[in-house]
Amino acid sequence: MRQQKVENRIEPKNCKKLYRIMKRILIVGAGGQIGSELTVYLRSIYGESNVVASDMRECPALGESGPFEHLDALDTKAFAEIVSKYKIDAIFNLVALLSATGEKIPQKAWQINIGALMNSLEIAREYKCAVFTPSSIGAFGPSTPKDKTPQDTLMRPTSMYGVCKVTGELLGDYYYTRFGVDARSVRFPGLISNVTLPGGGTTDYAVEIFYEAVKNGKFTCPVPSDVYMDMMYMPDALRACVELMEADPSKLIHRNSFNIASMSFTPEIICEQVKKLVPGFTMDYNVDPVKESIARSWPNSLDDTCAREEWGWAPKWDLASMSVDMLEKIREKKAKGLL
Ligand code: NAD
Repeated sequence: MRQQKVENRIEPKNCKKLYRIMKRILIVGAGGQIGSELTVYLRSIYGESNVVASDMRECPALGESGPFEHLDALDTKAFAEIVSKYKIDAIFNLVALLSATGEKIPQKAWQINIGALMNSLEIAREYKCAVFTPSSIGAFGPSTPKDKTPQDTLMRPTSMYGVCKVTGELLGDYYYTRFGVDARSVRFPGLISNVTLPGGGTTDYAVEIFYEAVKNGKFTCPVPSDVYMDMMYMPDALRACVELMEADPSKLIHRNSFNIASMSFTPEIICEQVKKLVPGFTMDYNVDPVKESIARSWPNSLDDTCAREEWGWAPKWDLASMSVDMLEKIREKKAKGLL
């Protein structure tokens, strides 16, 4: 039955040929910005019953299209029981306190971010699972080269979020070399999506600007006008997760974690883009000092050559096409009374 489902799987739209087949996937922290879309995306590829979503909060929508388990990822026993119950062979660990929230409660950020990761890696070691845990542009710091940031470079982040991300990358590689756990990941830029609102990151403004443009025709930006940061549209990010996890392992020189990139802009640049599509749109600034200091410590743009060479990464969306699509989808929501 399981074999038949895998053979009949739907190839992801615009996704290149897959090398290795994940069969039974568990997503921890599935209720957030990435997980709520990744769950649906993975279920469309691997079959609804083969993708188990879990989170510590209730997520009714995720339970409608497949299995959902209420799970605190820090509860090692409950986590392991779910992996065993569903015969999981790949864990997507999305549990995190994000950069801006994490800076308010750094001790808790460490406890949650590293606790969930250590449980994922240990349980993966015991049950022979692959592991995907996203890293971030937040893994870099002020001493990192800012433009075309190389794959292998100085990583001295100044936020607790960044400290957790560098630690996570090192732990992923350690578990691979020491125990053979198939751990892989990418450094996500700020992710832009029209489905789930972001959960407390420094790049959230690049999503909020579209909602405010549609609702009110104006936006107050918490990040200074001149700060470049890498961003990515969610469909590219979802495809990256699958393409990396299904990549031929013999071609991977790096593992944790790959730079990936698709667009880099400042608040001023995205404001000009929105103005072209929303007549009369205006933007002013009320800079949040925590977000400013984090944003200024991050790279302007990443060099993703290694991801392109080792597993064929190539983005499909840029600022112009993403902006058109975001506004179209958010206007549809408004027309349905969902805003
Ligand atoms: P999010 O904050 O939207 O979602 C995180 C989820 O984890 C939430 O649903 C929350 O309920 C859940 N969670 C928190 N503590 C938990 C626990 N103890 N047990 C179980 N669930 C718990 O985050 P996201 O934006 O979806 O990010 C997912 C991953 O991607 C994180 O590792 C994040 O650092 C990384 N990332 C995200 C972005 C982005 O722009 N969204 C960019 C770079 C990297």
